[in-house]
Amino acid sequence: DDGPSELRPPSSRNPSQSRNSSVNGRVATTADDFEFGRVLGEGSYSTVMLAKHRTTQQEYAIKILDKGHLRRNGKLPTALAEKNTLVRLGAGHPGIVRLHWAFQDEWSLYFVLDLAKNGELQSRISRMGSLSTTCARIYAAQIVDALGYMHSKGVIHRDLKPENLLLDDAFRIKITDFGTGKILDSGGERTKTFVGTAQYVSPELLEDSETSKSSDFWALGCIVYQMISGRFAFQGLSEYLTWQKIKKLEYSFPEGFDAQAKDLVEKLLVRDPAQRLGAGPHGSSTDMQALRAHPFFASINWGTLWTDPVPPLE
Ligand code: ATP
Repeated sequence: DDGPSELRPPSSRNPSQSRNSSVNGRVATTADDFEFGRVLGEGSYSTVMLAKHRTTQQEYAIKILDKGHLRRNGKLPTALAEKNTLVRLGAGHPGIVRLHWAFQDEWSLYFVLDLAKNGELQSRISRMGSLSTTCARIYAAQIVDALGYMHSKGVIHRDLKPENLLLDDAFRIKITDFGTGKILDSGGERTKTFVGTAQYVSPELLEDSETSKSSDFWALGCIVYQMISGRFAFQGLSEYLTWQKIKKLEYSFPEGFDAQAKDLVEKLLVRDPAQRLGAGPHGSSTDMQALRAHPFFASINWGTLWTDPVPPLE
C-alpha cells in the first residue's frame, strides 16, 4: 500500500522519536503539541486532520504529508513549493489559509493551517444547486480581494476552483491549495508549466502553456458563472471536448442569469489575457481597481468585506 492511508496517527508514535529541537532557546513546535481529532479530508498525498493545540486550546487543520509517498512519486518539490508559497503569503490576508507552523518527523511533513470549519464551497454549491446572486456577489468580492493580495505578493494560484475555496466558521472564503501555485520572479510576469483543472483552465494555458496572474481572473469568471448558474461554464463529454469549448469560447448563460453578473463574466472570460478585467497592461493595482469598480460589486463595502456577516447560504 502506497497511499496516504499508511500514515500512522501521530498519537500512536513514540514521542521520543518526534523531533523536538530547541531553536534559539525556544522549544520548536512538534506533533506532540497537538491533540489530533477527526480526519477532515484526504488529498492524493495528504491527510488533513482536525487538531487542538494543547496549550492554547486553539483548533487548527493539520495537513500531514507522508514523506515516503511524496519521495516515491517525485512530489517532494511540490510540497516544498506549497510551504514556501504559504510562508510568502504569511498572515497577511483573512481570505487566504494561513500556515502557522511547519515541522516534520521521521515519516511525515506537517503543515498547521487555519481551520476552515465549513468545508469546500464546491460542496455548498452541489448541495444547494446554485447560490443566490447576493451570496455569489459577496463570495466573488472576497475572492477578488484575496487575489489582489496574493498577486501583490507575486503569487499566482493557477488552480482556483470551488474545491479550493474553503469556508470558515463565519462562512467566509479561505483560499487554499497552493501546491500548484507559482511565485513570480521579480520582473518575470509569465511562466510556462501546465497545471490546472479542465473546467477552469484558461485558453492561453491550453494553447502555449503560458500562465500569468490573468489566468486566475479567467478562473474567477468560471467560478462566478458556476456559483450563479450551478453548472460549469465549459463542460464537454471529455476533458478534450471541454478544452475545445474553452478555446472557442463556447458557452452560454442560462435564462434569468443576473445582467450585471453576466457583464462581469463576459469581461473575465476573454481570450486575450491582457484584456481581462483586473489583468490589463497597467500593473496590478489600477487594474484591480477597475475590477472592484465593476457594477456587479456596486453594493459591496470593500472596507468591511471581512467583518460584515455573510448572509445565510441560499
Ligand atoms: P489533492 O492533493 O489530491 O489535489 P487536496 O488538495 O484537496 O487534494 P488537501 O489539501 O490535503 O488535498 O486537502 C484534503 C481535504 O481536506 C480537502 O478536500 C478539504 O476538504 C480538507 N481540508 C484541507 N485543508 C483544510 C482546512 N484548512 N480546513 C478544513 N479542511 C481542510
